[in-house]
Formats: sequence, C-alpha cells, structure tokens
Amino acid sequence: MTTYRELLARTKGEIAEIDARDAQAIDGAVWVDIRETDEWQEGHLPGAIHVPRGNLESRIETAVPDKTRPVVLYCAAGNRSAFGAKTLGELGYGQVYSLAGGFTDWKRNGLEIVLPRTLTPEKRTRYSRHILIPEIGEEGQLKLLDSRILLIGAGGLGSPASLYLAAAGVGRLGIIDADIVDETNLQRQIAHSLDTLGTPKVDSAKRAINALNPDVDVVTYRERLTSENIDRILADGWDLILDGADNFPTRYLVNDASVWHNIPVVHGSIYRFEGQVTVFKPHEGPCYRCLFPEPPPPELAPSCAEGGVLGVLPGIVGSLQTNEALKLAAGIGEPLVGRLLLFDALATEFNEVRIERRADCPVCGDRPTITEYVDYVEFCAR
Ligand SMILES: [Zn+2]
Repeated sequence: MTTYRELLARTKGEIAEIDARDAQAIDGAVWVDIRETDEWQEGHLPGAIHVPRGNLESRIETAVPDKTRPVVLYCAAGNRSAFGAKTLGELGYGQVYSLAGGFTDWKRNGLEIVLPRTLTPEKRTRYSRHILIPEIGEEGQLKLLDSRILLIGAGGLGSPASLYLAAAGVGRLGIIDADIVDETNLQRQIAHSLDTLGTPKVDSAKRAINALNPDVDVVTYRERLTSENIDRILADGWDLILDGADNFPTRYLVNDASVWHNIPVVHGSIYRFEGQVTVFKPHEGPCYRCLFPEPPPPELAPSCAEGGVLGVLPGIVGSLQTNEALKLAAGIGEPLVGRLLLFDALATEFNEVRIERRADCPVCGDRPTITEYVDYVEFCAR
C-alpha cells in the first residue's frame, strides 16, 4: 500500500522540478496554471493559461498543440503540478517542468502576479447563457460589458436593437432621437408603450432599457443629428454605430462621420416588406457612398415623410443589426462587411449581394472630394 507522501515523493523523482529563476529563463515556454478556477481568479502568473487539473488530460492538447514546446506547470505549492507534469510526459510532451513551491512561493518572493478581471456572481448568473457558449465565455461577456454602442434613432430599428443590446449586457448605449412617442409608433416600436406616449423617445427607450438591465449606462441625445452636433456626440467615445435612421440625409452624415472618425456602422433600412442590412467598416470594406456616392437630385428624391412598413419587419432587421453589433463587440464571427443582406418579408427570402469599396468613392476613396459634412435636408421632396 502506497501513501500519498510516498506517491508524491516518487512522482517528484520522476519529473523535472524547476525554480522560478530557471523557469523564467526558458525561451518560448508556455506556463500552465492547473489550479481550480477560484484560485486562478485570486491571481495568477503573467501570461499563464488556465487549464484546471481536472481537465488537464482532456484539454491540454488543444491549449498546447505543439508537444515539443517547453511547458511549465504550476499549482499552489508544487504538488498537484508534479502529478500533472508526470501526466504530460505520458501524453508525449517532451519538456515539462513543475514549478517548485508553486504560486505561493512565487508570490512570497515578490514576483509579479496578475489579478484577472472577472464577473461578479450576479453577472455570471445574468449572462450565463452567453458564458456557456465557448466563443463568448466570460472573456467575451467582459468585452460586451466594456463596449459602447451608439444608436441612431429610437424608432423601429432602434427599439429591438436597444432592448437586445441592453439584455446582452452592452456597457454603454447612446441613443440619438429628437422625436416624441405617438400612437402611430406603437405598431412596431416595441421599446415604447402606452405609458410613455407623449414623452421623448430617448427617455421612453431609456426607461425600457433600465427596466430590463439597470447595469447599462444609457446616454441620451434628444436632438436631431446634424453637421453641427455630430462631432460633439462622437467625441463621447463610441466603438460602433448602429444606424436606424429612416432618412438619407442622416445616413450620409453618419457615413461621412464614421469614415472620418473610423467607427464601424451597422446599417439597416426598411420599406414596406423589404429590409437591408450591412456593415460599413471604414477602409476594410465599402462605405455608404461607395454604393450611393450622392443623394438623388431633388426632383427624384423620395419623400421625407414616413412610409408604410410591416410591423415586425423592423424587429427582424433591427435584430439582424444587433447580431452584427454583438459579433463586432465580442470579436467573433464574420461580419457583413462588403455584403449587403436583403430580406423580403412577403416571400420570406434572404439574398446577399457583394458590395465593393470604390477607389473613386468621394469619402473613403483614394482621392476624397468630400471632406466636410453636407446637410442634405433641403433635398427632401415635400
Ligand atoms: Zn466609400
């Protein structure tokens, strides 16, 4: 019968123990923390990856695919890592070391440690369905909580976008809208309700967001976006713009500003039964003016009055925009850059059209001809 002490002593005789100074001198080593999650969260070595002892065998080949690379394992005191080192040797890793004295000695010797950012237990519960997805996880959720997204409009597209972005835990939401909630909005603008009729849309949306997720910092701009205020609003610091504008003067303004401020725009538009979504990422794909360099002349311009729209259509298009925004914020997936997604609600059909950046684009092209904001408001047909 072997006791734990005897097993530990024997194992330590079979593996290579290393002290902190020698371990730091190994070129290209990967440092693996095999402690439990709660221990990792109280601090770990700089640059280390975390593979708990219980998952070491099953996860190490994904975490460290190159078995010739030196591996330094550590735990709290150097005992669990000794057993772990033996296992890695059996799995074919050629240069495995167990850090003598582990994290405890490292810290006691005053060497640098990292305190990881983590979610509070409340947030871990609220966002558990995100955290369960490997592509998002706790790290992705922290990115969402750090992200700052500006919504142009709190109407049809802005309603689902603001609610889903808030529910997803986007840290700061800016909302620009000068309008007041009226009865005709309630057919589709689900951020508003009978309770908020007659109040500014930005306040109504903020109320709905706060009721859903009080963690979200909502910044309201009760004004119409113009060439006069756009730089001031963008100076508040936004990672991403979700454009739910219902008119092309605003669309051009947002486009030009986004190129000059280098902020990606998730674009959406709707009309009756048709919707469009794309992502304009400055200099990586086309911008709105690559598609439509100038607005149509006044005699061909559409009316600036609201057109009809199937109530659920902004829900679908605004949700697709939110999908793009969340992907961009979390840094996952393939955004709709250079792809225009078309949705036909009557046929229930999606189509995708490739769109290219144009070298002769007046704003993002090689020799821009538009370098100042243009207010197109007067071009609307009445
Ligand atoms: Zn362009």
